[in-house]
Amino acid sequence: MQKQQLIQHLYKIVAKTSVLVDKDELHPYECDGLSAYKFLPWLVVLPESIKQIQKIVKLCFDNNIPIIARGAGTGLSGGALPQENCLILSLAKLNQILNIDPIARSAQVQPGVRNLAISAAAEPFGLYYAPDPSSQIACSIGGNVAENSGGVHCLKYGLTVHNILEVKIISIEGELITLGGQSLDSPGYDLLALITGSEGLLGIIVDITVKLLPIPEKAQVLLAAFDNVLDAGKTVGEIIANGIIPAGLEMMDKLAINAAEDFAHAGYPKEAAAILLCELDGTIEEVEQSIFAVKKIAEKNNADSLRISQNETERALIWAGRKAAFPAVGRLSPDYYCMDGTIPKKCLPEILDSINKLSEQYNLPVANVFHAGDGNLHPLILYDANIEGELERTEEFGAKILELCVKVGGTITGEHGVGIEKIDQMCIQFQSQELQQFHSIKAAFDRKTLLNPGKAVPSLHRCAELGGMHVHDGQLPHPELDRF
Ligand SMILES: Cc1cc2nc3c(=O)[nH]c(=O)nc-3n(C[C@H](O)[C@H](O)[C@H](O)COP(=O)(O)OP(=O)(O)OC[C@H]3O[C@@H](n4cnc5c(N)ncnc54)[C@H](O)[C@@H]3O)c2cc1C
Repeated sequence: MQKQQLIQHLYKIVAKTSVLVDKDELHPYECDGLSAYKFLPWLVVLPESIKQIQKIVKLCFDNNIPIIARGAGTGLSGGALPQENCLILSLAKLNQILNIDPIARSAQVQPGVRNLAISAAAEPFGLYYAPDPSSQIACSIGGNVAENSGGVHCLKYGLTVHNILEVKIISIEGELITLGGQSLDSPGYDLLALITGSEGLLGIIVDITVKLLPIPEKAQVLLAAFDNVLDAGKTVGEIIANGIIPAGLEMMDKLAINAAEDFAHAGYPKEAAAILLCELDGTIEEVEQSIFAVKKIAEKNNADSLRISQNETERALIWAGRKAAFPAVGRLSPDYYCMDGTIPKKCLPEILDSINKLSEQYNLPVANVFHAGDGNLHPLILYDANIEGELERTEEFGAKILELCVKVGGTITGEHGVGIEKIDQMCIQFQSQELQQFHSIKAAFDRKTLLNPGKAVPSLHRCAELGGMHVHDGQLPHPELDRF
């Protein structure tokens, strides 16, 4: 079908103003949070209802038009990056909180609802939604499900996948399918877990029921500063080994501390080599006991200074620095590249040392921010895309970091997804047998490979060419899947 014909069909489904075709209107959709990669979309559609989405998806299916779902576009792995001749399906207008059930402790929401808006709506009931990506002021819950997003509080309360009950999707054939259920468990294969983190490759998420938790009686954050990273790393290990489960356990190195402090004025000690932010929550007694225990562990590991929030304003201020760390680091250079890998916690000092050596080798500064409690690293590589070859050097440096993560038993992504960014590293993380299973699942949901093509799961040929794996007997399970 020609583009003009498609537009005429779309006008019959949604208002003309909801179909964007002019360059000026399309520019805001040319990238996600990973702005190193840009591509002007072919067409953007903004439906307002499930019925409209069903009709659009069916139209695309019948005419073999690929679809890229888009939430708020804050993704950091190029998941919502437009591709040639693909329709961008924005879920931004489906932004209603449909129901809050304080007895079931759940909320039914549309995919375009902002993460933070759920907790704001639940607060009058003494409830909140736990997963809190640093982008929570802007990112959509649909995007959170598609990426299985995490955040500071996921150490104790789990990732998105642990905090949802039911998801409704539109299949590529335009059918409405319910995954999971309103109770704690549902029979059959766990398709709810499968759709979580599927990066727009298996269906369009149109309705989500999330779990809500009671707002804890008390929460306090302890800020510990160290003059070397090793001591901070040891403190993390001992806190966990002592059976303490912090609500959040974050670490930042010197460059990140300085950037965050200059930006947010959170009172971070700028001379420290590393800081730990450890939040404890629960009943008043629980918090008092845990704060005391964490303080002792930090002191034993040579913490230079300790600060404990005494009220909600102080707690918010201490977190403000961490939550603003990415944009704060962004002020240090024209561009930055945010990596996302996980490692076993015990490898933290070793990996940091290797990252610093690589930083010298590539002559590119790195600021390190991480969810230390779950071993999720976010090295932020500073570069200037206007300098010829610097982006390529940055990408190579980033790839080396991810390879290091896999080498020590970690993974190439903790929470930002694979998207377009880490697709080659998937060949290092997985063997051909595992990738074949991924392709079989994709084929079961999307036999024409129309949903977010070219993202998240590499073709077997691509991996074979990169030398990361071998295709058995030269056979591909679904040769038609290998065209991207
Ligand atoms: C400053 C900053 C801080 C961040 N901090 C964190 C953090 O702490 N933790 C974390 O996990 N992430 C973080 N992120 C990354 C990002 O915010 C998350 O990945 C978020 O979940 C993306 O949501 P979105 O609505 O912006 O999705 P988008 O970027 O629009 O899309 C992301 C992916 O999901 C797919 N998708 C979106 N909506 C749907 C849908 N309804 N149905 C099917 N597929 C869909 C898209 O196709 C794409 O593949 C951060 C980003 C920034 C810019």
